[in-house]
Amino acid sequence: MSGRHDKERGVNVQVLLRCRPFSEEELRNHAPEVLKCNEYQREVAVSQNIAGKQFDRVFTFDKVFGPSALQKDLYKQAVVPIVNEVLEGFNCTIFAYGQTGTGKTYTMEGECKRAKQTGPTGELPAGAGVIPRAVQQIFDTLECQNAEYSVKVTFLELYNEEITDLLAPEEISKVALEEKQKKQLPLMEDGKGGVLVRGLEEEIVTSAGEIFSLLERGSAKRRTAETLLNKQSSRSHSLFTITIHIKEATPEGEELIKCGKLNLVDLAGSENISRSGARDGRAREAGEINKSLLTLGRVITALVEHLGHVPYRDSKLTRLLRDSLGGRTKTCIIATVSPAVHCLEETLSTLDYAHRAK
Ligand code: ADP
Ligand code: MG
Repeated sequence: MSGRHDKERGVNVQVLLRCRPFSEEELRNHAPEVLKCNEYQREVAVSQNIAGKQFDRVFTFDKVFGPSALQKDLYKQAVVPIVNEVLEGFNCTIFAYGQTGTGKTYTMEGECKRAKQTGPTGELPAGAGVIPRAVQQIFDTLECQNAEYSVKVTFLELYNEEITDLLAPEEISKVALEEKQKKQLPLMEDGKGGVLVRGLEEEIVTSAGEIFSLLERGSAKRRTAETLLNKQSSRSHSLFTITIHIKEATPEGEELIKCGKLNLVDLAGSENISRSGARDGRAREAGEINKSLLTLGRVITALVEHLGHVPYRDSKLTRLLRDSLGGRTKTCIIATVSPAVHCLEETLSTLDYAHRAK
């Protein structure tokens, strides 16, 4: 096989690391810092004295964002090229992976759901995360082009391998939710290499501003269901998908339809697999293993290492993302960690996991 051919088949997986700042509580307790981010060298150094023994390790990533990195900088450096790819008609996926409390939701959704209006220059609030910024970039680009287009979004949650539609405009009560759980939204093959979730609400979006109310609606539903059904939010994944259709005319006057899809995934807390006993080989109790999170790791390993069999079919999440992982798609994993010593064990397992995906 020629080098060029290899390159064309090459897997496009980018792995970034983001370290959140200390929380107010950690600052009050003077939590020691065990991580040092070097954004220029794209390195993270872990340094800790454990029982008199100095422990030092350095990890390198495609990009590193330290505690003072702004939402807009992470977006510009990591996400803009991916959204451009989607606008060219490709499917791409961005994951936030990390321990609960390290900033996955902050990175993906951000902290501006209540401040719906944009600034005087149309700029988003500083706390806006990847989802609103991607929608903004998509509309900014489409509005300058002389082409017909449509933008649709879906927002779902995956909990215990069961799908909940976060956009469905229905009654949210315990009885209604339990009824709904009994009739899960089924996953079906669409015959084009992808899958369909039957009955999933698709919202047509016509401006970036609409995204905030959709995010808020989805998040409110997620919180209510969590409380009513005693769900543990750290065990659920959320998947926000933006699908774009662009109808262009070629210089020869022919019609060209481009269809691109961007998946933005806020994964379950990584502590749900790293304490799985995989290390000491003990089996976990049934139901405790997060099948989608484990399978995602295996799928990415298979893609990165060019293994023949990619186990997409082994979990709902990887079935949902099948047409957007591998092949001519771009994947970006944003691994999030805490700088504090009390998270060190989980931080090391996140760094190891993310490093392996490179
Ligand atoms: P996760 O979704 O991984 O459980 P969150 O996104 O909820 O974590 O973040 C936990 C807390 O830390 C939140 O209060 C969030 O605002 C804050 N936080 C996380 N990352 C950052 C960051 N990069 N800058 C400022 N605050 C952050
Ligand atoms: Mg979260």
